[in-house]
Amino acid sequence: MVEMVTAMGRLGTESAFEVLARANKLSAEGRDIINLGIGQPDFKTPDHIVEAAAKALRDGHHGYTPANGIVECREAVAADIMARRGVTIDPDQIMIVPGGKVTMFFAILMFGEPGTEIIYPNPGFPIYESVINFTGAKPVPMALHEMNNFSFSADEVLELITPATRLLIINSPANPTGGYVPREEMDKLAAGLEEHPHVAIMSDEIYDRMLYDGREHVSMLEYESLSDRLILLNGWSKTYAMTGWRMGYGVWPKGMIELATRFSINCHSCVNAAVQFAGIAALTGPQDAVDAMVAAFDERRRVIMRELNQIAGFSCVEPAGAFYAFPNISETGISARELQDRLLNEAGVALIAGTSFGVQGEGYVRFSYANSTENILIAIERIKASL
Ligand code: PLP
Repeated sequence: MVEMVTAMGRLGTESAFEVLARANKLSAEGRDIINLGIGQPDFKTPDHIVEAAAKALRDGHHGYTPANGIVECREAVAADIMARRGVTIDPDQIMIVPGGKVTMFFAILMFGEPGTEIIYPNPGFPIYESVINFTGAKPVPMALHEMNNFSFSADEVLELITPATRLLIINSPANPTGGYVPREEMDKLAAGLEEHPHVAIMSDEIYDRMLYDGREHVSMLEYESLSDRLILLNGWSKTYAMTGWRMGYGVWPKGMIELATRFSINCHSCVNAAVQFAGIAALTGPQDAVDAMVAAFDERRRVIMRELNQIAGFSCVEPAGAFYAFPNISETGISARELQDRLLNEAGVALIAGTSFGVQGEGYVRFSYANSTENILIAIERIKASL
């Protein structure tokens, strides 16, 4: 039998893709499935972005691009960061990658090895823990609590730091909880991190444009004292409904960008050239489609919160951002995984068990409300009937 590295046994997965495959299989068998599982906008990419990619192909952009991305695309990212965050970033610090995930993969590979520790949110995006485990580093969960609206307490995070800590991962607005870390807490964290210069930070801000009720995104880029060890993860997938295009970006400290680029050269060479032109059009073109999409999410957020709180055994705190609701289901007496499977098989509603996002997710399930209000209401009725 062939033998693989033992690290393969430590590599996890993202259950959302497994549930999506099962939901698609059931649909193909003729079942009527409402998918509140996978985290992707149910909107189409705006036309002017699609047209920019088509034009790039017609214009002959068919070859490799620089491994860190074409300069116009990196300049567009830097200009967007300046416009939104008021922070000057050298386009040479930006690396365009095939999806937001790639920045997290490279950052964790860069810092994780046996004997080191990486702190990550739990419940949190499952790939953090998976890749940390793969590297052999010790995963140190930062527990996020419902009573704190799934924000973190900077004091609690800082207490997790040891001399072996290499990387701290934060994510606001958050998957799977919809939680958001307010400015006071971010300020406190940034100030505390000044005492720990051996810790790099990866801030996953992929949902930065999806905040509700007038909340303002707080970017880690704003803290200049951390700029020589901050990796920012962002991208186009969620904001511009471009999950299938595969494009994201990382902002890397000057001292790390060359090594990060070396990862790209070893892995994917560069992002699809035409897609990068679409990325420029997204950032520099009209933003009204983004605003309309976020307004639609906000409306659905209110509906789903109201409805979830009417299901016996469910209670849901208000999600502040992203497009997820993370209700507590412990009063139903059913485990998260069992509820996920039962509602998919019996009610035809795909959602994700909270445990897919770490052990702290037991007693919760994740609903993605990137689906029509009509479908959300039908799904809720089916869940009530099934329970
Ligand atoms: N980070 C978080 C918190 C996410 O939820 C996701 C996608 O679900 C990603 C990163 C990855 O995004 P992409 O599809 O661009 O790789």
